[in-house]
Amino acid sequence: TQLDTLDIIVLSVILIATAAYFTKGKLWGVTKDPYANSFANTNGLKAGKTRNIIEKIEEAGKNCIIFYGSQTGTAEDYASRLAKEGKSRFGLETMVADLEDYDYDNLDQLPEDKVVFFVLATYGEGEPTDNAVDFYEFITGEDASFSESADPPLGTLKYVTFGLGNNTYEHYNSMVRNVDKALTKLGAHRIGDAGEGDDGAGTMEEDFLAWKEPMWAALAKKMGLEEREAQYEPIFGIVEREGLNKESHEVYLGEPNKMHLEGSARGPFNAHNPYIAPIVESREIFSVKDRNCLHMEVDISGSNLSYQTGDHIAIWPTNAGQEVDYFLDILGLTEKRDTVISVKALEPTAKVPFPTPTTYDAIARYHMEICAPISRQFVATLAAFAPDESSKAEMTKLGQDKDYFHEKVSKYHYNLAGLLRSVGGGQKWNNVPFSAFIEGLTKLQPRYYSISSSSAVQPKKISITAVVESQLIPGRADPFQGVATNYLLALKEKQNGEPNPKPFGLTYEICGPRNKYDGIHVPVHVRHSNFKLPSDPSKPIIMIGPGTGVAPFRGFVQERAKQAEDGETVGKTILFFGCRKRSEDFMYESEWEERKKALGDAFEMPIAFSRDGPKKVYVQHLLKERSKEINELLEKKAYVYVCGDAANMAREVNTMLAQIISEQRGIPEAKAEEIVKNMRASNQYQEDVW
Ligand code: FAD
Repeated sequence: TQLDTLDIIVLSVILIATAAYFTKGKLWGVTKDPYANSFANTNGLKAGKTRNIIEKIEEAGKNCIIFYGSQTGTAEDYASRLAKEGKSRFGLETMVADLEDYDYDNLDQLPEDKVVFFVLATYGEGEPTDNAVDFYEFITGEDASFSESADPPLGTLKYVTFGLGNNTYEHYNSMVRNVDKALTKLGAHRIGDAGEGDDGAGTMEEDFLAWKEPMWAALAKKMGLEEREAQYEPIFGIVEREGLNKESHEVYLGEPNKMHLEGSARGPFNAHNPYIAPIVESREIFSVKDRNCLHMEVDISGSNLSYQTGDHIAIWPTNAGQEVDYFLDILGLTEKRDTVISVKALEPTAKVPFPTPTTYDAIARYHMEICAPISRQFVATLAAFAPDESSKAEMTKLGQDKDYFHEKVSKYHYNLAGLLRSVGGGQKWNNVPFSAFIEGLTKLQPRYYSISSSSAVQPKKISITAVVESQLIPGRADPFQGVATNYLLALKEKQNGEPNPKPFGLTYEICGPRNKYDGIHVPVHVRHSNFKLPSDPSKPIIMIGPGTGVAPFRGFVQERAKQAEDGETVGKTILFFGCRKRSEDFMYESEWEERKKALGDAFEMPIAFSRDGPKKVYVQHLLKERSKEINELLEKKAYVYVCGDAANMAREVNTMLAQIISEQRGIPEAKAEEIVKNMRASNQYQEDVW
């Protein structure tokens, strides 16, 4: 039979492809995807790279290192912004560096014409972020030993610091404060003030912007730098990959790393590598008007993950499809959403924050915080690419004027697409280099949840208790919807085949990239915490957890009930809970009764209802009512645990405890405050607040 033309073409393509496969492309001189980046190949682990920072800057021709200690991505983002600004405004040869990637014992050899920045977040109870633990221990340690034993050891080091903290926590910005102190003690010279940003007051971005101008002026003076007209230069190059489409097996459609792409995901599961966990149960523990509270059970038995009562689970969310659509639309990328692109760092020390080749759709859906608050500095950068003069003027004004920005943007919780749409009247912002978004938006972050089960009772099943974030905002048509909690809500609706799921939730890509999360799965990892029950169950405990703050205490009480059932002596277990109304949002009501059966009188649960009676009652009022008993328990070395709202509740509980101690023991308040402080220092008082 004769072959027709089409058959010949098809056969030739198969032959060529087969040859290419077996020769790994060598016939054509192509040995490697020229645009593939190292992230994809190493699963975020940095293989074979130097840990010697001096070697690194010499090799890359840098004179300014910007180290970051980051937990949720903000410090990393600020570090990148400083690097970019240092280069564009002052011609510094900057590089951003993860503290985890280098050794520090040769910082004393850094040539004098270089400068080091430390952008350091404080995490939890005054702790360093995970990636900064080693650095922190080294630099604040008594025996920090440097390669040259000069005196003082860091006499030639110039540095700049900015800290990210939250004033509602006891150890506000302690990371940057302690590092600054340690560096000074080692003889290093700080340039400008040690900046501090306050997330508690909601002024992080403004604190950062206000700090950096005088810092740059001081640095320019010290290093003799000339300021120049800043020109935007992209850090990432985008290349369209014509030979690939979204079906091509090497294209990332949202898979977090190469193992996931190839379907061979295995542990260790951690912040670089999530476990795609089945959700085995999901339900609502209350739902009133627009407030929903979810309870979910995540099965980790198929992984080597483990947890301990009091730990946190990280949920890796995806953005809602509706938001992805708005974002791509306003950038004029709707038609190209599935176009395959490679992203390459044009600057040798920059890292592409997601694996490629990928698509615009996957980047917006799985890798960028497209819904998050917008940085005012980023708005100023975007002004240059506005679709017309009036939008440009408006963006410039928003970038310069903090009050105006608040009035027009922050007040309405606008995200980037919302802002661009409103400023440009719906015109497409298709002049902005895509690199600007990779630089200006944070990487999509996992959200943490206090595990609400006990590992002694259900070691392979993690419970989550989460309130869905949805707020009506005056002056804004649609409610503001949180990313992760609405994703969880959508998963729950799908799992239970609910008849009227929320339209917003329906737009989430529940099944994940290439349907890999089908059957109701969610990517997770576990973060260990220091929020722990006393090892001796006979010790009394006082737990204070209104609202979702009750989450870890559900686990604590579950664990104590099991201990009682196992015949152990369990000490007094008091849980102060608070909610609006018994009939509305009293969580896990029947479960507490079950626990009471096991624990008997050892378990008590005073409840503050804020909207059930003529007076608003909060947990701290209940503490006050029981002053005598609380004081007696504290004298018996009861452990105190506080979980939930950091901004108000945790602080008020702290104040109330000091008051109780002062009154009951007849000592001055200052003395009582000191006692509370010491309780914290000795872990007798623990917080899990957010
Ligand atoms: P997001 O989209 O992240 O929004 C969160 C908030 O950010 C909004 O309320 C808003 O104030 C602000 N925001 C976001 N976008 C904008 C914008 N464009 N403009 C202005 N403001 C904006 N939650 C629980 O329900 N249960 C728990 O057990 C629990 N445990 C936690 C434990 C830890 C250690 C931490 C750190 C947090 C915990 N949280 C818990 C909170 C949880 O991690 C999430 O922050 C919460 O669920 C909201 O996530 P989301 O993605 O739905 O909202």
